[in-house]
Amino acid sequence: MRAVRFHGQGRPLVVDEIDDPRPGPGDVLIDVAAAGVCGTELHFLDGVLAPATTPLTLGHEVAGVVAETGAEVEGVAVGDRVAVHYLHACHRCRSCLAGDDHLCDEPLGFLAFVNDGGFADRIVVPASAVVPVPEGLDLATAAVLCCSATTALHAVDVAGVRPGASAVVYGTGGVGLAMVQVLREAGARPIAVARNPERLALARELGAVATVDATRGDVAAAIREATGGDGADVVFELVGTRETGEAALAALGKRGTLVYVGYSFDTVEITPLALVVPEQRILTSVGNRRSELVAALDLAASGVLRTTLVEYPLEEAAKALEDLRAGRVLGRAALLPGTVSAR
Ligand SMILES: [Zn+2]
Ligand SMILES: [Zn+2]
Repeated sequence: MRAVRFHGQGRPLVVDEIDDPRPGPGDVLIDVAAAGVCGTELHFLDGVLAPATTPLTLGHEVAGVVAETGAEVEGVAVGDRVAVHYLHACHRCRSCLAGDDHLCDEPLGFLAFVNDGGFADRIVVPASAVVPVPEGLDLATAAVLCCSATTALHAVDVAGVRPGASAVVYGTGGVGLAMVQVLREAGARPIAVARNPERLALARELGAVATVDATRGDVAAAIREATGGDGADVVFELVGTRETGEAALAALGKRGTLVYVGYSFDTVEITPLALVVPEQRILTSVGNRRSELVAALDLAASGVLRTTLVEYPLEEAAKALEDLRAGRVLGRAALLPGTVSAR
């Protein structure tokens, strides 16, 4: 089968021909219908993150059709349309038992970080990692929800956003555009920041009450203006550079909360005095729970969440990543191997 594999930092992504993976007793073999392309893939190429092993098949947002089940698998059958939760939690450790399976201490697997991901014709995952895709929801959309809307749902939960709160979405890629909609549904007032007028227009269409063009002047001042001078109740930092971090801090209002979701090697200076006096908080949010994948799929199936897809054939993985890096992907990119229908 074909697999788009990472061979190490600074080396090109290669479409390799490799043996089909075989399911163990508790696993399922899935014909991949679609795999989303996420900023995390760029982090591998750039050396911000290193996978546990190379070569490794990338792609941690995966949906497809079950082709085979291991001997001990119950509750999942051949032909089922499924999405895969990228972190294959043990569902037994302290974190899992507390409902925080995204922080699992002993994961059975971790797609495209430790185990081969979904930029391939087929993939094997533990049966406990798959979630049924509701009828009426296409598999390409289901795939990209695995790490865009899910990540947005988790971050909004971490922040404890209240109805009426002003909430800045700093960065409007796949996660940001989903976050605007999640915030709108939570009764908050989303304010989107981006460097691209098309993205800002799309964010408005999806529910942003105001938008800020980051290429024009002082972002923090524009956010203050959009919040009637108060500053934001919450800022979701989806970029994670020094420049965006400084603007995000300067845009916070009293008791405002900055939530880090995006990251880079950059550092951001914090002056305790400037944080303490207005009683501001800095939080972080990583990944998402399996339950948040179930919620994202349900929200999309019921029409609450809209996703804009940009589709590429599997062979064009490198191009999809180039387009993502250059900011040319309006919405979320997905690779479609084409061996099974993504509809
Ligand atoms: Zn991702
Ligand atoms: Zn666990």
